Amino acid sequence: MPLTELSPDQLATLRQTQRDAYDQLVGRGLKLDLTRGKPSKAQLDLSNELLSLPGPEHLTDAAGADIRNYGGGQGLEEIRSIFAPLIKVPVADLCAGDNSSLALMHDTLAWSVLHGPVGAPRPWSKEEKVTFICPVPGYDRHFALCEELGIEMVPVPLTADGPDLDAVRELVARPDVKGLWAVPTYANPNGVIYSEAVARELVSMPTAAADFRIFWDNAYSVHHLSGAHEAIDVLSLADQAGNPDRVFVFASTSKITFAGAGVSFFGASPANVAWYLKHLGQRTIGPDKVNHLRHALFLRDADGVKALMARHAAIIGPKFEIVLQVLHSRLAEHEIASWTEPEGGYFICLDVLPGTASRVVQLASGAGIAMTPAGAAYPYGNDPDDRNIRIAPTYPDETEVREAMEGLATCVLLASAERAAAEHAGR
Ligand code: PLP
Repeated sequence: MPLTELSPDQLATLRQTQRDAYDQLVGRGLKLDLTRGKPSKAQLDLSNELLSLPGPEHLTDAAGADIRNYGGGQGLEEIRSIFAPLIKVPVADLCAGDNSSLALMHDTLAWSVLHGPVGAPRPWSKEEKVTFICPVPGYDRHFALCEELGIEMVPVPLTADGPDLDAVRELVARPDVKGLWAVPTYANPNGVIYSEAVARELVSMPTAAADFRIFWDNAYSVHHLSGAHEAIDVLSLADQAGNPDRVFVFASTSKITFAGAGVSFFGASPANVAWYLKHLGQRTIGPDKVNHLRHALFLRDADGVKALMARHAAIIGPKFEIVLQVLHSRLAEHEIASWTEPEGGYFICLDVLPGTASRVVQLASGAGIAMTPAGAAYPYGNDPDDRNIRIAPTYPDETEVREAMEGLATCVLLASAERAAAEHAGR
């Protein structure tokens, strides 16, 4: 029965039942973790062949350069040509770097602050204020980069096919608004897939700042579960709209091969790529091309990446199913929560009753179930409704996912019953 239809007596009973269930849960001394959006050991094992590549017979790239030496700032063409069609960036405009795309986001943001991006009247550090648009819920590390570099953040709602365009349009009329974060495919954390129409509008709309940039983070563009969405060719859309320099595209193999030893990618207009390589050349004398070549040999081509991603889906798909099953069987009838059913990516978003997310996470922690802090998916950790919880099911095994989710459901029920009882008492 929906929680709202329970009489005060029924509510008191539910609350007591859930309190007893929770006390039992605590008594089990669990140690479970649903915070980590990272691949499990079984997923990492899919790429173990990398550990014996490239081998002493592969010491040069196709152009004959020694991959063990300095140089080749843009990265090996062999690996760039595998990922170019997947993330829809021309090979010539794609750069391959070391193991973290987040590091590239940091670099491009820091260089924008220090030097200004292409077309900037001055470095962002010389502006009175720099503001980024942050579709919410979003990726906490994007927001942390902004905080680190003194960039203010304004949340806008992330709707079913991308950020609320009216809100974005209003904000980009301000000259201090210099950027927008976007995770266009299977967004972290709510799995949203941007439509091409939204992407076109984002790259077309007039902006007060000539140096406005969209940080287009393609972290999950090939990470399908039930979905099969192709990445959007956002650079062509921006070019057609007459704003070729508006977009920085990022991606990596972190959740394709090894999260700690993969390859990152940066793609953009020729002018942006020249800007990027100029500053990159000051920071490093060249990327890890041995890693580029071993990835190219292992993955072979875009179809090789797709085949590997299907094997990942076979491992993590059942874990997502378990999360959804438990949420449905334990929470649906009470009408106290809603959740996403993502077609890909790494997360499920659980929205609980307003004002209860922090309490749920606190209860879960008390029962030995680590959850990402409530509010983490919002700039400054501030979820104004205190209702969003991010569930990351990929890392634990299936038994642990089920146990953690059963425990979490108990916490949601208890927090909801507490809230409803308090509301009744206050009437
Ligand atoms: N971007 C998003 C949206 C992510 O969710 C993550 C990791 O969870 C990253 C970037 C990190 O990528 P990388 O490992 O390439 O630094």
